[in-house]
Amino acid sequence: MVEGEWEGVEDMKKKIIFEQLVENAIDFLSKAIDELKDHPKFSMINFHASLEIFIKARLMAEHWTLVVAKRQEPDWEKFLAGDFQSVSLDDAAFRLDKVVKSGLSKNEVEIFREVARHRNKMVHFFHEVHTEENNIKLRQEIARTQLIAWYFLHKLLTEKWKETFEPWSEKIIEIDCSLRKLHEFLKIIFENHKNKIEEYKKQGFIFANCPSCGFKSHKHQNVKKTIYDSECMVCGLNGESLQIECSGCDATVFFMDEGFSICLECGKKYEPEDLAEVLIDSGGAHIAAMDGDDTSYSANCSECDGYQTVVRTENDEHICASCFGIFDSLQVCQWCNEYNTGDMEYSYTFGCNFCEGSSGSHDDD
Ligand SMILES: [Zn+2]
Ligand SMILES: [Zn+2]
Ligand SMILES: [Zn+2]
Ligand SMILES: [Zn+2]
Repeated sequence: MVEGEWEGVEDMKKKIIFEQLVENAIDFLSKAIDELKDHPKFSMINFHASLEIFIKARLMAEHWTLVVAKRQEPDWEKFLAGDFQSVSLDDAAFRLDKVVKSGLSKNEVEIFREVARHRNKMVHFFHEVHTEENNIKLRQEIARTQLIAWYFLHKLLTEKWKETFEPWSEKIIEIDCSLRKLHEFLKIIFENHKNKIEEYKKQGFIFANCPSCGFKSHKHQNVKKTIYDSECMVCGLNGESLQIECSGCDATVFFMDEGFSICLECGKKYEPEDLAEVLIDSGGAHIAAMDGDDTSYSANCSECDGYQTVVRTENDEHICASCFGIFDSLQVCQWCNEYNTGDMEYSYTFGCNFCEGSSGSHDDD
């Protein structure tokens, strides 16, 4: 066989393994959903398996060696035979960040660890509970964990890792519909919190539909264009939220932890660039420019590598519309002259996250 042909065959094998991984992940997920009512233990074990396989599939899409545990020498023949130890969740998170450059957020890692903890408890210490009350509690706890974990996993599959999992988008929609039905298990918690929610409303808080469990139990502050902590009183999903008035209609659009969202009234989709545009205090920018203070212009974010995603809002805050970082001040990169949230002290030589500075340009000589 000539070399080109050999590579073609190996690529084909990689593609097949990758596809099998994704199909398996989807299988385990549907099993998890079906089993929650009668076999909560297996539901949790299958959910965990699915989560792990989706993450490995994302690593595999980058390079197969990333799926192999770090204490092992990657061996393609052994990999094909399934004879290898695969990467742990923590190492996978590390590799996604450092190698794939598509890392997991703190919240994602936290909930995925919680899934792993739950799964271990089920495998090692599970004993059937015999009182009806404990049964209900157990299913609630599992439904809650799976709904939150799915909220994050679903976002990864349909936003950040969209290209990798595009061929399965139909199936992902199907799973999303059936998984959201798990919220039935949490209905009683919602009922129990109704009075408390009414009390909070009187104090001025507003409640939106929770993106994880679907109940109108997500507690928000009544403020726009500024970042605050929000929390769901039913499933406990929490994060940094921000609201704007939709530019397509006048409904309120909620964002959590990042600049992607959708207006539930008119369906307008928002990405960080759109959010930055809404957040920027155009009046303020104009006045500041006349005063010769041009810090109202967009800046680049050194936290998330967002290009021109940091804007000054009417509340006089510098907010990154992509990662929701808040910054006290901005500095100018001494090489490319663009505003940046990072420390620009040595930027003339070393540049910023969007330029290489003078040392980079000398390399070309
Ligand atoms: Zn919720
Ligand atoms: Zn709208
Ligand atoms: Zn950012
Ligand atoms: Zn620069």
